[in-house]
Amino acid sequence: MKTVHFEKGADFALQWDSSDPLKRYRNEFYFPKEAQGKNVLYFVGNSLGLQPKKTRSYVEEVLSDWEKLAVDGHQQGKHPWYPYHEFLTESTARLVGAKPIEVVVMNTLTVNLHLMLTSFYRPTPKRFQILVEAGAFPSDQYAVASHAKLHGLDPKQTVLEWKSREGEELLRFEDLESLVHKNKDSLALILLGQVNYRSGQAFDLKKISKLAEQYGIAFGVDLAHGAGNLKLTLHEDGVDFAVWCSYKYLNGGPGALGGCFVHERHARSFHLLRLEGWWGHDKVKRFLMEKEFVPMAGAEGWQLSNPPILPMATLRASMELFDEVGMTALRKKSELLTGYFEFLLNQMGTHSFKVITPAQSEERGCALSLSFGKEGKGLMEKLNQEGVKCDYREPGVLRFAPVPLYNSFQDIFELCEILKKHVKSV
Ligand SMILES: *Cc1c(COP(=O)(O)O)cnc(C)c1O
Repeated sequence: MKTVHFEKGADFALQWDSSDPLKRYRNEFYFPKEAQGKNVLYFVGNSLGLQPKKTRSYVEEVLSDWEKLAVDGHQQGKHPWYPYHEFLTESTARLVGAKPIEVVVMNTLTVNLHLMLTSFYRPTPKRFQILVEAGAFPSDQYAVASHAKLHGLDPKQTVLEWKSREGEELLRFEDLESLVHKNKDSLALILLGQVNYRSGQAFDLKKISKLAEQYGIAFGVDLAHGAGNLKLTLHEDGVDFAVWCSYKYLNGGPGALGGCFVHERHARSFHLLRLEGWWGHDKVKRFLMEKEFVPMAGAEGWQLSNPPILPMATLRASMELFDEVGMTALRKKSELLTGYFEFLLNQMGTHSFKVITPAQSEERGCALSLSFGKEGKGLMEKLNQEGVKCDYREPGVLRFAPVPLYNSFQDIFELCEILKKHVKSV
């Protein structure tokens, strides 16, 4: 990001909001209200994104087709259900920097992770280890450990961790490099959260992908905090697979459907073992009800079931917004918002918290994590009472995600005014 000259007065925020090219999108979302009818200051879009106002009509379209057409909705619905997931393919591909054949919307994140591990983690007596980042999201840790067990292996000997150094919060690429180099003959897979959910540190997928490729190690990514947050180029970066959820930055609604990316080089690798279901079967022949499974080419070949249309409708509404704005413009605003937030935090000149998220914008998404130690939990409750929604992660960390689609510079200004009241001034 170019150096921007931020100022600490209230005027600055107002001015930047009024010249923000994306300002109209704030009004496309519902904000929860406080008792006095004021919008809450919402900084948990990394946990559950807000509801786009148009979502309701997309859901109503499906309900109405079901009401009036019943089974014929599969072919005759306004957006027919039979190919409904395909209405999401192009926008999803643009979102993550992929080709349409590489992506599919299906299931939820952890389910997709299991499907991918089934195909891309095929341990041999020599190559069986899985490398994850220390402090990976628990679901990812459970998933890899369970695959080790499914193959009769001991997770303790199978799962290696990329750890931070003594006294440091963040992970260093050179430590990953030496860990991979040291275990190059026994590593089968690297699985990383692209943006760490707790520290907010983002990893360079291209660099890691090259490293993995050099030693013939499969590389998978969890994009739970990356999708809709960073500008992604999955195809070009060359990762083998990626999975994500859509209820965080993607505003697909609680428990929304997840996404899955499988690199084009595997699109016709029909020898890859997979869990099979009729929706992954060649769609031309699906209703011939033949006994033998013939997978579709690309990510669609990992689908299992006839998908839930109502949650696809909510996602379609929000993906249209992403498509309209585009990740380039979104990321540009995001860097400014977060940069402004960081600037105001630094202006407080206090030692009562430490920003643990990297200071370089290429190494983070929109969220900043502030470590308060013992004070963290109590502070979070005070902020809540003042109409600030943020969240707490053990131990001692408050996370704030200024989301460029709907948060404003004014939101950040108000947040920092409230924070100032509650943190010690030195
Ligand atoms: C939110 C999150 C998940 C959630 O998984 P679900 O299967 O959608 O419940 C998984 N991994 C990471 C890194 C997350 O942040």
